[in-house]
Amino acid sequence: MTTHIRKYIINPVLTVIGYLTCNPRVFNAPTVTSIEVTNCCNLNCIICSRRFSDRDLGFMEMDVFKKIIHEAKAASRFTWLHLLGEPLLHPRIFDMIKICKENGMRVGLSTNAVLLDADRSRQLLDSGLDSCILAFDGIDKATYEKVRVGGHYELVGKNIDAFLRLKESLKLSRPWVVIQTVETSITENQKEEFVLRWKERNVDEILIRKYSTGAGQIKDKDSVTKPEHRYLVAPLKHRPPCFLLWNSAVILWNGDVSVCCHDGTNGRLVFGNIKRDPLAAIWNSPKIRELRQKHARSEFPSICKDCLEYPLFYPSVFYFLLLGLRRLGKKATFLCQGRKRIVSHAREQSHF
Ligand code: SF4
Ligand code: SF4
Repeated sequence: MTTHIRKYIINPVLTVIGYLTCNPRVFNAPTVTSIEVTNCCNLNCIICSRRFSDRDLGFMEMDVFKKIIHEAKAASRFTWLHLLGEPLLHPRIFDMIKICKENGMRVGLSTNAVLLDADRSRQLLDSGLDSCILAFDGIDKATYEKVRVGGHYELVGKNIDAFLRLKESLKLSRPWVVIQTVETSITENQKEEFVLRWKERNVDEILIRKYSTGAGQIKDKDSVTKPEHRYLVAPLKHRPPCFLLWNSAVILWNGDVSVCCHDGTNGRLVFGNIKRDPLAAIWNSPKIRELRQKHARSEFPSICKDCLEYPLFYPSVFYFLLLGLRRLGKKATFLCQGRKRIVSHAREQSHF
C-alpha cells in the first residue's frame, strides 16, 4: 500500500510541483517509460527513425537490466521493454518480463510479430506481460510489405492469428492486445478496412497511430506521409518547457539514460549511464539540470529544437487541474464501456 501511495500519488505530485516551478533540481524519481533491450531489428520499415540512427547496435546485459529494475521499480508506473528495435530478438526477453513482474512492475512491449511463432507466443502469454502491441500495417500484402520492409505478410498474419487464438483458448485477460497500424500516404485509404478486419477478433484495442517524425529526425518524412498523418503540436509563439524532462527517463541498451523516446534514434539527449551511476544521481546530474534550465528559458537545444512531438503541458496549476478532471472523465467512460475493445486514433505508443 505504502509503495502504491508513493508511486501513484506522492511521486506524481512531486513531479508536477517540479514542473510547475520549473525547478532544475527535482525531488521526484523518474518513471522509466522505456527500456531498450536491443536496438537490433529484423525489419527496415519506412516509417522508422532507426534508418537514420548512428548508434552502435547491441543487446542489454542481464546485470544492467536487473540494476535498472532494482532502481526503477519504486517509481515506474508502466514500462515498455522496447524503444528502437525488435524486443523478441533478445534471447532473455521472457526472463526480463518475469523479473519486472516479480518486482511488481507493469510492463508491455511492441513487436513486429515476425518471430512470434507458437513457442514464443506461449512464452509471452505465460510471462505475465501486461500489454502487447502487434505492429501490422495495412490490409494486404502489397501495402504491408511496402511499409514493413523485409517482413512477410502471410507469415506475420499467421503468427498473429495463432497468438490471438492461443490467448483466447487459455482464457487470459492479460496481456491487453493492441493491433496497430501507422498513418501514412500508403495506408491512409485503408483505415476503415483495417478496423473492420480486426473488429471481430480477439484484440482489446485497434490503434491507428499518428506517424512520428522522431523529433524531426526522419529526413524523408515527406515521401511517406502528409502533414495530416503526423502527430504534431502546432508551432507555438511561447512554447512550454517539455514535461518529460521533469517526469520520465528512457534507458538505452548500453545503459545510457535519456529523456525521451525520440532520442532512441541518435542518443543526443543522454545525461548519464546507469552502469556508472545510480539512476537517482543521474536524474539530477548537471547535464539534465542544464537542459531543464534551458527549456525553462525557452531555449531548445539539440533535437528539442525541431521537435513538434512533445506532450503539450503548461507549467500552470489551472492547466493541471483541467488535465486531472479530463483524465478522470476518460477513466469513467472507459469503465462504463465495460473494457470493451476500442478504436483509437492516438499518439505513438511506440514501435515507430
Ligand atoms: S518500426 Fe519497429 S519493426 Fe520496423 S524497423 Fe523500426 S524497430 Fe524495427
Ligand atoms: S522536446 Fe521533444 S525531443 Fe525534447 S525531450 Fe521533449 S519530446 Fe523529447
